[in-house]
Amino acid sequence: MIPHTYPGSKSNRLRLLSLLFLSVLLVAGLAGARIGARADQEALQLKPTSTGSRDAIARLNAKQADQHTIPAPHTAPTEADLYDALKKGCFGSQSDRAAADALYRGVLRYDAVEQVHYIPYPVYGYTPEDIRASQAQTKAKVGINEWGYTHSKWSYRYSANQPVQLTLQTSITMPQWTATDPNHPSPPPFWPSFYNALLFHEQGHALIGEYAVALMRLRLNAAGAGASTNAGAICNQVQSEMDILNQQYDQATNHGVSQGARL
Ligand SMILES: [Zn+2]
Repeated sequence: MIPHTYPGSKSNRLRLLSLLFLSVLLVAGLAGARIGARADQEALQLKPTSTGSRDAIARLNAKQADQHTIPAPHTAPTEADLYDALKKGCFGSQSDRAAADALYRGVLRYDAVEQVHYIPYPVYGYTPEDIRASQAQTKAKVGINEWGYTHSKWSYRYSANQPVQLTLQTSITMPQWTATDPNHPSPPPFWPSFYNALLFHEQGHALIGEYAVALMRLRLNAAGAGASTNAGAICNQVQSEMDILNQQYDQATNHGVSQGARL
């Protein structure tokens, strides 16, 4: 869900209508570009399992602190650059993901804030069977269908003659192994690799959210002076692209199973 913030006046909305035709032309052109990019992704070869670490959560949470130290990209990236980085970042190694992350943060520096929240829910048991049974009972209460869930919520805000301000909030829901038996105070040996692979998968969804907001910034810049009145159309278009990318990512990875998130 995306809250669209429209602090604009009635006259802004009238201008929006008057520019609708131009917006449609813009979106149609970009949608064409996306079709080519999707065909590209279908040819993608999945690489062997990559694993993340709990440190990655801290890295995500630290983003806000260092966002003002991000250097400008040497050359302005194109949409194709953003998309190539996304493919590598979702399916490749940790370093591929970090490179994509840095690229998006470079595009968004100064005018976008990302807040990441980590939401744990408890799972119990010492065998895969018991943990699966525990999770099956809990997941409906937590409101998820899979082991993890990443929610990217972004919004934009503008006022007359000001650059559009973008905000991204990401929440990552993850299982947390919880001891119930004094004989087993620590997680079973297989748990850390499962957890890390799942975290890597969920951070791939978070990366798609960053990609979407970076894409929005690029398109707003391309729209130039009309950006604030075109923002609604650009936002809706990017949102639908992001939804498709999340579905494709889950299909390609079987919700993280092919990345090692199998119990
Ligand atoms: Zn997923």
